[in-house]
Parts: sequence; structure tokens; C-alpha cells
Amino acid sequence: MKDLEEKILAEGRVFEGNVLKIDNFLNHQIDVELCGKIGEEFHRLFSDRQVDKILTVEASGIAYAVTTAQQFGNIPIVYAKKGNAKNMDKDRYTADAISFTRGGPVTFTVAKEYLRPGEHVLIIDDFLATGEAVSALIEIARQAGAEIVGCGTVVEKSFQTGRQRIEAQGIEVCSLARIKEMTPQGIVFED
Ligand code: 5GP
Repeated sequence: MKDLEEKILAEGRVFEGNVLKIDNFLNHQIDVELCGKIGEEFHRLFSDRQVDKILTVEASGIAYAVTTAQQFGNIPIVYAKKGNAKNMDKDRYTADAISFTRGGPVTFTVAKEYLRPGEHVLIIDDFLATGEAVSALIEIARQAGAEIVGCGTVVEKSFQTGRQRIEAQGIEVCSLARIKEMTPQGIVFED
């Protein structure tokens, strides 16, 4: 997605540990116009499938899940909550992951009433790095007996293992910007 790649080149900063900071427009402050275009692009990529619901994870996936859901005719989105808070419904699906940004373990949780057997679910998230977060969402969707129709991530760091991991589970991955290499001196996208 050209607009997105140009913005990453102009405004992205690369930090140690393979971390790209674009929180001035993607995942802290949000460029709402770009967010809308991202939803349109995910819809274009998956419009040939039946999508009943979007599954994402709090917090950074939610905005992109919403604009995508609007394009699919205002279908519901469900976001996995992080942690096992006491006020959460006991009747829930859970999956564990290692947080890329925090480095520690995190438990993803979705109440059973919001994910039903046979629902066609599209997974959306902001970044794909090692594939931990998306794998946990896949595990939750499978616990629910939902059909996973694909996975869309806004930015993929293709030099990390996420894509191989998700594709090995039989899930198609579409990313809107695929970073082949990045250093503090520059960012190179896949063709
Ligand atoms: P994964 O689970 O695929 O290793 O990492 C995905 C999650 O970690 C995303 O939900 C995202 O929030 C965070 N993440 C991964 N890589 C980056 C990065 O380079 N920059 C930022 N800001 N977040 C990242």
C-alpha cells in the first residue's frame, strides 16, 4: 500500500531489537484518514470471502479492525483482552503468547459468547513480527470452532518468522507494507 509505505519511510524510526516506531500515526496517535484507507484495502483483499466477524487484540489492532468491519457492512469486531482480570467472564477462551514489545508472557482472553462455532472470522492486527499474537488469536478461534478466513496485518517485518508460522497453520496472510530490511539508516520494502 503506497501511502502507508511512504509514511513509514518519511516518519518511521528504527530502534534496537527490530522495533519500528510509527506510533505518531499507527498505534498511539492515529492518522484517521490512513486508518480508513487501511480498512478499504483489507476489504479489497478479502472481499471474495465470507467474513462474519473480525477478531483482533487490544489495543492497537482495534482501530484497523473497526475500519475493516465498516467496509464489510458493519460486521462486529471482537478483541482479545490481555490478562486474566477478575472481572472477566469465567466462560472464556484463552491462549498464551510472548509479547514482542514487552518481552514477557501475556494471556489473551475472549468471552465464549462472542465467538461461536462456524462463524467466519478474519484476523486483523497492526504488526506481524514473530507471529505470537496472531497465533494466539488463531488458537482462540479454533477453540471456538470458528472458521478462520485469513489474516491481515498492517505492517509485516518479513525478516522475522511470523508469516512462515501463520502460513504453516494453513492461514493466508496479507500485509499492507512488508519490510524486508530495516536499520536506523533506512527501511527497505519487499517488491
Ligand atoms: P508478534 O506477536 O508477531 O511477535 O508481534 C506482534 C505484536 O507486537 C503487535 O501486536 C504489535 O503491537 C507488537 N509489535 C511487533 N513488532 C513491532 C514493532 O516493530 N513496532 C511496534 N510498535 N510494535 C510491534
